[in-house]
Amino acid sequence: MRTVYLDNNATTRIAPEVLEAMLPFLGDSYGNPSSMHSFGGGVRRHIDRARGQVAALIGADAEEIIFTGSGTEGDNTAILSALKADPTRAHVVTTRVEHPAVLALGKQLEREGRRVFWLGVDAEGMLDPDEVRAAVRDCTGVVSVMYANNETGVVFPVEEVAAIAKACGCAFHTDAVQAVGKVPIDMRRSVIDYLALSGHKLHAPKGVGALYIRKGTKFNPLIVGGHQEMGRRGGTENVASIVGLGAACELAARTMEEERTRVKALRDRLERELLSRAPDTRLNGHPARRLPNTANISFEYVEGEAILLRLNELGICASSGSACTSGSLEPSHVLRAMGVPYTAAHGSVRFSLSRYTTDEEIDFAIERVPPIIRELRAISPFGRGPAK
Ligand code: PLP
Repeated sequence: MRTVYLDNNATTRIAPEVLEAMLPFLGDSYGNPSSMHSFGGGVRRHIDRARGQVAALIGADAEEIIFTGSGTEGDNTAILSALKADPTRAHVVTTRVEHPAVLALGKQLEREGRRVFWLGVDAEGMLDPDEVRAAVRDCTGVVSVMYANNETGVVFPVEEVAAIAKACGCAFHTDAVQAVGKVPIDMRRSVIDYLALSGHKLHAPKGVGALYIRKGTKFNPLIVGGHQEMGRRGGTENVASIVGLGAACELAARTMEEERTRVKALRDRLERELLSRAPDTRLNGHPARRLPNTANISFEYVEGEAILLRLNELGICASSGSACTSGSLEPSHVLRAMGVPYTAAHGSVRFSLSRYTTDEEIDFAIERVPPIIRELRAISPFGRGPAK
């Protein structure tokens, strides 16, 4: 059975160019980049090259990039570093719709006695910078606002929010895990202090990421140990994955413009057709200020998980906006924060495309999804009655 992979916000396939760049470092080029000898030193040069490739994609300097083990690590490192830099500023401002990489840390900080202000979003999932302005105080140490939402694809006005944070003297971090490689980012024209990204969302391997730290920002490492990463992140480098991340960033820089347009056209077609072919559907998220690859659609009166199971039988991979916790289906915290009605939040499905998504795959999804919705509605526990 063919796989139609429309779950690229969960993870992406490794690009063939990326895999090829990595292979030598899983084979003969196994030197330790910290070694004095040239066998290790040769490997070090490839890490330096990768650092330059990551920096180039986001308009940063190479020395502003450290490699991490994940996007989650980058988020944790940035927020904790900012809080440690000025102990008199213990207050945190973030949003209700962050990924658990930030959300869970915020909750942990609250349990430890810190005050965290949780910003809301409007019905389109958009953040109002005025609410940030009202939330920051003299004692705010860090404002952490994601660049783009993983569930809806909504892109926040992060530059505006960063400027508000900086005007109040606090650090600004953005979780850009879903944005890097999909939309242009230029740190030269930005006041963002920290930006986290993750390899596996842009066709590099899982378990590698990078954190941008603006030059001059007071930094406190999360992981202490050896002198790796200029003393900013201990631990022998995951060389093959770092080289892969560099290659993926170079590929994204080269092809982003073209791919954005192509992928957006596919996404728009999928969205248009599903919204028009299946009644009682709605788009979740701002219609325009969104990542080009993400469509979050609610099919009312059906369970998103039931749709996913039926799609899975056809080889179509997608995600739902509800998660099974303790036997009940909980709608996602993002859709809840947007005030999406119960029957719509439960029936939400996220389709996320990539550079490898084809026209035929979108045709296949457009043909197969509406009949599944009709069948499921006929047996809906929401009591919708006969299928439309
Ligand atoms: N932040 C966002 C917005 C994400 O979508 C993800 C992954 O889904 C992460 C952070 C975590 O990244 P990683 O899986 O590399 O830890």
